[in-house]
Amino acid sequence: MTTRQTKPDIAPPPLKNDCFALPAGVNWTPVDTALDLLRDRLQPVVSTTRVALPDAFGRVLAKDVFATRSNPPQPNTAVDGYGFSGGVPDGEHVMPLIDGRAAAGVPFDNAVPKGFALRVLTGAALPEGVETVILEEDVTARDGHIAFRGPLKQGANTRRAGEDIAAGDLALPAGRNLTSADLALLSAVGVSAVPVYSRLRVAVLSTGDELVEPGETAGPGQIFDANRPMLLSLIDRMGLDAVDLGRVVDDPDALHRRLNQASERADVILTSGGASAGDEDHVSALLRREGAMQEWRIALKPGRPLALGMWNGTPVFGLPGNPVAAMVCTLVFARPALGLLAGTGWQSPQGFDLPAAFEKRKKPGRREYLRARVRDGRVEVFRSEGSGRISGLSWAEGLVEIEDGERHILPGDPVRFIPYGSFGL
Ligand code: AMP
Ligand code: MG
Repeated sequence: MTTRQTKPDIAPPPLKNDCFALPAGVNWTPVDTALDLLRDRLQPVVSTTRVALPDAFGRVLAKDVFATRSNPPQPNTAVDGYGFSGGVPDGEHVMPLIDGRAAAGVPFDNAVPKGFALRVLTGAALPEGVETVILEEDVTARDGHIAFRGPLKQGANTRRAGEDIAAGDLALPAGRNLTSADLALLSAVGVSAVPVYSRLRVAVLSTGDELVEPGETAGPGQIFDANRPMLLSLIDRMGLDAVDLGRVVDDPDALHRRLNQASERADVILTSGGASAGDEDHVSALLRREGAMQEWRIALKPGRPLALGMWNGTPVFGLPGNPVAAMVCTLVFARPALGLLAGTGWQSPQGFDLPAAFEKRKKPGRREYLRARVRDGRVEVFRSEGSGRISGLSWAEGLVEIEDGERHILPGDPVRFIPYGSFGL
């Protein structure tokens, strides 16, 4: 019996232990190039309808909307006080009051003669002969007279008709995702119903043999589906219509049937998992075979290739299975793309440069997004960059975006922080 063992003819892979290193000879698309491509290729796929103002919150304007009335509709007083004509110079002034007053919604119907003053309350239309208002606090009123000190410019403490927005002016442009403030504006300028796009229907589908539903019993090797509740609520928060397509196992036929259902029920499909090029990556395999897939190798961390394809004419975004990568890819790529499909136009998230509270060395090649939050004006990052660490997504209040090139960040150096709110969350 020999103790010498013959070595099998097997060698480690030619490249790296470092799974985040860029594969040699593969072209990785920079994040900005990928975004430009999406921006060029997508357009609204939704029809238009009309809704009453109380139902318009979060909807997307399909046409420019113009003011049908000026705001304010007529000149009025901005304060409680006394109104008179013209301005007054430096020095003391005494004016006789005329009987009556003007209040919001209860105008004074007569003219105020020159040299006289009238009691006016905030929001009251200025009667004929009143151009200027002196604040109540700056006046002594007695025996039918007021006394106060000048100077006061003509027009002081008043609002001009249409100074905010004039009838016929553009109130809000097509593509606007209507906010609470927008509803106030539209209401003020006399708009009671608006043309909007119908809500983009976004199907969300999880893939993987290992997934079970929260609430079910998870056997060994099984994990709860974390992506679906996250993605469905993200879609909801974006003001889109989330369609729950459930889970599907790693089986091409099952996936085929589910994608058929999804394309009937939705305008766009988001899948998670199975998007890389592995044995069980059926989303990318199926899309490559039948769905005119483009595999986008985006130079992004965290994120594996994003599988983009068409299924029965419906766009499919094949997101990575990893929850952290799935969320980052959704915020960075899917959100602006969904915005274009939904009619809002392209939306770039607004970031802020703030001092780092951490140190990090970054290799060139990929843009990186770290889970981050701001405390005492400095940006903290989550203690681990592991892309399976879902608790970090939840700990974070936004992302730090680190540019594609090499960087050595020291505490105090500026870094770009993008709050979740800038992604519309
Ligand atoms: P995949 O992209 O299918 O290779 O999945 C990458 C990793 O993400 C694996 O560890 C999966 O188990 C995990 N994963 C995939 N889908 C989900 C999901 N819906 N919820 C939680 N983890 C997932
Ligand atoms: Mg999988």
